[in-house]
Amino acid sequence: MSLVVVGSVAYDGVETPHGRVDRMLGGASTYISLAASYFTKVNLVGIVGEDFAQEDWDLLAGRGIDLTGLDRAAGKTFYWAGVYSEDMNDRTTLRTDLNVFADFDPELPAAYRSKPYLLLGNIQPALQRRVRRQMDGTRVVAGDTMNLWINETREELLETIRDWHVLLINDSEARLLTGERNLRRAARAIYEMGPQTVIIKRGEYGAALFRGEEVFLAPAYPLEQVSDPTGAGDSFAGGFMGYLAERGIDLESGRADMPELARAVVYGSVMGSFCCEDFGVNRFRTLSRAEIDSRFQEFRGLTAF
Ligand code: AMP
Repeated sequence: MSLVVVGSVAYDGVETPHGRVDRMLGGASTYISLAASYFTKVNLVGIVGEDFAQEDWDLLAGRGIDLTGLDRAAGKTFYWAGVYSEDMNDRTTLRTDLNVFADFDPELPAAYRSKPYLLLGNIQPALQRRVRRQMDGTRVVAGDTMNLWINETREELLETIRDWHVLLINDSEARLLTGERNLRRAARAIYEMGPQTVIIKRGEYGAALFRGEEVFLAPAYPLEQVSDPTGAGDSFAGGFMGYLAERGIDLESGRADMPELARAVVYGSVMGSFCCEDFGVNRFRTLSRAEIDSRFQEFRGLTAF
């Protein structure tokens, strides 16, 4: 089973109460791909500049990620910088330099077009749609979005998510998108927009999955120290979708069962928690599948009574 991932590959500058790094590998699709690579074959679609370091390329390739779809263009790699509040629940963006990302016009390698799983990372809805249109016979299409697109390109976004199976979204953005304060009502409003499976991410409070009348709640893993939450939502998405691909789940046929989707949410939470343990993507340099499965088992104990 094979997953296509599209989104930003970036250099990030991040400051949290636990430290500061001016420049390190980041980007939504970097986190998604690294997290998903523990479960399935990943095919990355994105763009980097001439400054993209060989060691960063090697880190992705070393996890078995197919980089045929990662273009290297003249110019600089997308750069993003942010600073977290003392409790790390708020983040202020200090800089967004689109650089080569400004002219990104994703053209999928022929071999990617028939892959069964597609995860559209948080980029302009028009680009997400362009990628979606190039794919055929997809079993699960999932995607992420953010307040910027909800506010600035709402119609475009609604057009884009109409044929997605899964929407992954933050709680505040779910409210912004639907106008509903109550998350259950917000999920129902999102069903009307297209996606029949809705995952609402609630940061340190965990994640909620809504499908029809069913709801599944996963807590966030209680880490002793969150070093850097950047990429946690993307790592969640990578773990969630990676597990669906590993298990061959088919949402196009509508046959998926809730227990499998619930396990995917827990794997997402597991990957989000590992991501937070260290700065940037560092935790993925040493993380093993055995550690992932062990934390997955720990989740059972967190909520069983
Ligand atoms: P998250 O913490 O899950 O929201 O993801 C953070 C990642 O998103 C960082 O690594 C950034 O490089 C990337 N990012 C931030 N802003 C944007 C944007 N406007 N478009 C694409 N990627 C972005």
